Amino acid sequence: MHLYQNQQLKIYNSLSGKKEIFEPLNEGHIGMYVCGPTVYSNVHLGNCRTFMSFDMIFRYLRHLGYKVRYVRNITDAGHLVDDAEDGEDKIAKKARLEQLEPMEVVQRYTIDFHNILEQFNFLPPSIEPTATGHIIEQIEIIKDILEKGFAYEVNGSVYFDVSKFNDSYEYGKLSGRKLEDMIANTRELAGQDEKKSPQDFALWKKAEPQHIMRWPSPWGDGFPGWHLECTAMSTKYLGETFDIHGGGMDLKFPHHECEIAQAEACYGHSPVRYWMHANMLTMNGKKMAKSTGNNILPGDIFTGENDILSKAFSPSVVRFFMMQAHYTSILDLSNDALLASEKGFSRLMDTLSTLEALETGTSSDFDVKAWKQQCYDAMNDDFNTPILIANLFEAVKHVNLIKEGKESITAGDKETLTQSLNAFIFDILGLEQKGGTSEDSGKLSGVVELLIQLRKDARENKDFATSDKIRDQLAELGIQLKDGKEGTTFSI
Ligand SMILES: [Zn+2]
Repeated sequence: MHLYQNQQLKIYNSLSGKKEIFEPLNEGHIGMYVCGPTVYSNVHLGNCRTFMSFDMIFRYLRHLGYKVRYVRNITDAGHLVDDAEDGEDKIAKKARLEQLEPMEVVQRYTIDFHNILEQFNFLPPSIEPTATGHIIEQIEIIKDILEKGFAYEVNGSVYFDVSKFNDSYEYGKLSGRKLEDMIANTRELAGQDEKKSPQDFALWKKAEPQHIMRWPSPWGDGFPGWHLECTAMSTKYLGETFDIHGGGMDLKFPHHECEIAQAEACYGHSPVRYWMHANMLTMNGKKMAKSTGNNILPGDIFTGENDILSKAFSPSVVRFFMMQAHYTSILDLSNDALLASEKGFSRLMDTLSTLEALETGTSSDFDVKAWKQQCYDAMNDDFNTPILIANLFEAVKHVNLIKEGKESITAGDKETLTQSLNAFIFDILGLEQKGGTSEDSGKLSGVVELLIQLRKDARENKDFATSDKIRDQLAELGIQLKDGKEGTTFSI
């Protein structure tokens, strides 16, 4: 008996705009595809939130007993700077600016991506395919779409014919756009005359002589369009129809719309049963963007080396903060919100130790069985982690009442409660005990603060030998002191 046979999971399907009862195509198995990063810069915190939402979803599906094949790709070619049809390949541009081989750029930022995700305690996907590793598959799909009459070749490039496709299928159904409106709202842009219509998108782009990333094809040397790789890799590893396709909300249009069109043109039917979209992360109420400076890298949150937050926050605290919002809601990051999450996280961790030491009695005042089902109900309701966390704090309240002798719990209920808390906190939410300001690290902070004070006294007495000794020996232990206008801070 698997857990999923007792739990009815509902998923909000972006395609239907409704919560639907989840039934996988093949009983007990789930195929899930999530659009991965374009590896031309350090991973954004907003992208981390998207991937974290799907990590939590992957974890819960596995917890329910499903065998999940989770495919998350790496875009290492074909994603153009303006996200549409023109401009340079993002990776090629970075390579040119930094005088690197494109593969050097890809390698550097793939390692950064994996490193940050590991710190956030992500589970690795089952398959992590790359666009450049699937050029042959992409060329085959283009041939197929050309053969079916939904694409045309112009001067070494191949474009998807959106109007032709829309005659037999429906272009825009995922994002709720109508092709007529899109046509009415576009101005003719110079330089786009190669395409029959501005809505058409590239399946294959001819490589100009200076373009460094290029592959031979039946249409000459070139490179695949960005939307194509996901169709090639998702259907190769999950089949022409698969259960879940996820990504950030910003990918709905045009990326996912184009993926649907490509697959329908090829296979004659919709590729995905449940489309899921994670919402964005803002910071201090504004959109995060490198250009405005309203931006922070995950690594800089962990070390505290930034001008935005008052201190360093551990990956588990940031993860806990993100899990406190539903994946479809906009979430705003701020110093206060992280401080509150840190407090909540350490309360949760402290409760686990309190629970371990609790004495048991002959009866329970806390209905653990009903509580446990409420936790599952929250997760079954489209992965509602904020409600789950509210339930976890309901348990915290009872554990404290039991500790104070105002309530009691039986040994059996204590066992169930311990197991369930561990499952929800560590296996499903993916949090880790280390980090946060639990009792021990609270003491450590106190000791470091004391040393900072002694160092300050030494400097005021012009005893620089002692002040340097404190700083250097702390550094040897991996504790960095940072002197700023508002005094000295530290990061571990
Ligand atoms: Zn994609």
